[in-house]
Amino acid sequence: MTQKQHARVLIIGSGPAGLTAAIYAARAELDPVVIEGLQPGGQLTITTEVENFPGFPEGIMGPELMQKVKAQAERFGTGFIFDEVQEVELGSRPFVVGTASHGELTCDALIVASGASARLLGLESEKRLMGRGVSACATCDGFFFKDREVVIVGGGDTAMEEAIFLTRFASKVTVVHRRDELRASKIMQERAMANPKIHFVWNAVIDEILGDEQSGVTGVRLKDTVTGETRDMATDGVFMAIGHKPNTEIFRGKLEMDEVGYIVTKPGTTATSVEGVWACGDVQDSYYRQAITAAGTGCMAAIEAERWLAEHEEV
Ligand code: FAD
Ligand code: NAP
Repeated sequence: MTQKQHARVLIIGSGPAGLTAAIYAARAELDPVVIEGLQPGGQLTITTEVENFPGFPEGIMGPELMQKVKAQAERFGTGFIFDEVQEVELGSRPFVVGTASHGELTCDALIVASGASARLLGLESEKRLMGRGVSACATCDGFFFKDREVVIVGGGDTAMEEAIFLTRFASKVTVVHRRDELRASKIMQERAMANPKIHFVWNAVIDEILGDEQSGVTGVRLKDTVTGETRDMATDGVFMAIGHKPNTEIFRGKLEMDEVGYIVTKPGTTATSVEGVWACGDVQDSYYRQAITAAGTGCMAAIEAERWLAEHEEV
């Protein structure tokens, strides 16, 4: 695609939401173009086995699943651009989307599927062992830790909820929190503390995740936030629950967002505060955050865009 080229439907993001929107828009002969971003295929490309996506009874590796979804979108004529969107102009139509290396593109309808990123600690060992014992999603990966011991990092509601969820599988769940007081709501704190499988390590951060790519996680090096002392603790898995960050910086002031930065959509739809712009997947969902829900809302966004374009022939 050359500079200033126009797309009828432009999709920002190539995770399950963006690619599902592309499949539907392409089959509706809207010639969608997907700007893939710096993580083609989205979050599932950094995990190993996905066991809860319908249609794969034996499970499927995350990167393979996303390659298949991309191939399906390509089959119906979706165009792909490997680039990052740096700015958007949504004040009038056609919308203008500025990219890092393909200049400006214009579109009649815009589907935002830029996802969200789990906040991570930023350790090299965390990156290396992601999907090999390190996870940012208990719903996705808890099942792999049957009768094993896991650590969960964080002191908020997500950490408590995920710790409780993990007790269905794990023999022991240790919550590692950097302070001596939880941020979680009282009811969640009480539930977690009443669970005999959940243990707490207070005033501690993870300094290093121990293990290698072959054996996976074998332990964590904990650093006491008060004394600075370090000690090693054996564990089979480490779940990060220190919050999520929607990838919405470029839409700040242009689309309505909640206080955390998730794009607000009209109830029961994927319509945003700007007519002609839809948002789907994790970028507008702080609650479910699953590949199948992202795909589902991607489908919704494409159908809504298709119907809107049909009703607005002048666009
Ligand atoms: P994402 O997958 O986050 O994709 C966002 C896309 O937007 C990416 O392609 C990115 O490159 C692009 N993008 C971002 N910013 C820009 C920009 N400025 N310009 C252009 N493009 C941009 N869910 C499950 O259902 N089952 C699982 O087993 C499972 N396992 C998981 C394991 C891990 C380690 C993680 C992190 C998540 C897991 N999830 C799982 C959650 C699932 O991956 C997400 O819910 C899903 O990927 C969200 O899809 P999405 O399309 O909304 O966004
Ligand atoms: P959160 O409330 O922001 O909590 C994040 C936790 O991670 C905090 O305890 C924080 O410690 C810790 N943390 C952050 N950065 C860290 C780091 N670098 N190293 C170690 N620890 C770190 O996020 P959340 O738990 O995901 O919740 C987000 C929102 O969703 C909240 O409003 C929450 O109430 C809501 N939610 C509700 C429910 C429910 O009601 N069932 C479930 C899930 C989420 P500090 O406390 O020291 O800052």
